Amino acid sequence: MKELLQEIIDKNRKYTKEGNVATYIPELKKANRDDLGLCIIDVNNNIYEVGDCEKKFTIQSVSKPITLALALMDNGKDRVFSKVGMEPSGDPFNSIMKLEITKPSIPYNPMINAGAIVITSMIKGKNNDEKFERMLNFFRKLSGNKNLDINYDVYMSEKRTGDRNRAMAYLLKSEGILQGDVEMVLDLYFKQCSIEVTVKDLAKIGLNLALHGIDITTGERLIDEDISRIIKTFMVTCGMYDASGQFAINVGIPSKSGVGGGIMGTVPNKMGIGVFGPSLDKKGNSIAGVKVMEDLSIKFDLSIF
Ligand code: GLU
Repeated sequence: MKELLQEIIDKNRKYTKEGNVATYIPELKKANRDDLGLCIIDVNNNIYEVGDCEKKFTIQSVSKPITLALALMDNGKDRVFSKVGMEPSGDPFNSIMKLEITKPSIPYNPMINAGAIVITSMIKGKNNDEKFERMLNFFRKLSGNKNLDINYDVYMSEKRTGDRNRAMAYLLKSEGILQGDVEMVLDLYFKQCSIEVTVKDLAKIGLNLALHGIDITTGERLIDEDISRIIKTFMVTCGMYDASGQFAINVGIPSKSGVGGGIMGTVPNKMGIGVFGPSLDKKGNSIAGVKVMEDLSIKFDLSIF
């Protein structure tokens, strides 16, 4: 198995040359464009790691389905989906356009930045510290990694330069969709995106989703079954930015990508997958990472369709 996975990494590493690392968050420029790593954890808890699997990277948008799960458990479906929609937007992740032309200005879905920021604002806690602590603990439990923490430099870099997210959040506040102090909500969102992970952490979270919210090692229910189903559905329809349709056809694995180069995949009842390749295509997906996912899907017949 490991040899097969190594072959997939070796074969696809060349694609890293065809993309570029994200630069709009200055600190992300420091990533090594050639890196490519993969981890799979199956339902028997076998762990396979190949390529640059020891590298740490910030979770970025891969955090969005996870905070959505927490917000749904905190607030219930009715409240959450009165503020954020369920439809793919077909627009880039940081687009602001539809917020102005849709009335009320409800973000299309929780996977684009506008929707994710509203979701972050719904995390419960008596102050920002407590909200972040609850969030981080949830990520730690799901990944089985007690040491997860934020990359402070990336967090500060994004906080300094995140004016597009700031613009979106203020617009949402003025429309009555986002409640609370905008700067506090954004601070929490920037921290959420700066949580540092490895491919193994993503594979473990993916496995928990694949097992409908149950942790394989402890038997503990971490996510309600119904919520785990909602999360996976969003990953299919909106998880890979505005390339989600193409990805569903070519790969067919519920997945979420982030501009740090991570992809988290979840194959129901089979496995969790973590991929890292910071060289991105034009839509913001790991360019070689998507190729790896395609090969995995074909080799192991993983498409859910
Ligand atoms: N922190 C990033 C942002 O808000 C996340 C974007 C992403 O990974 O798609 O711009």
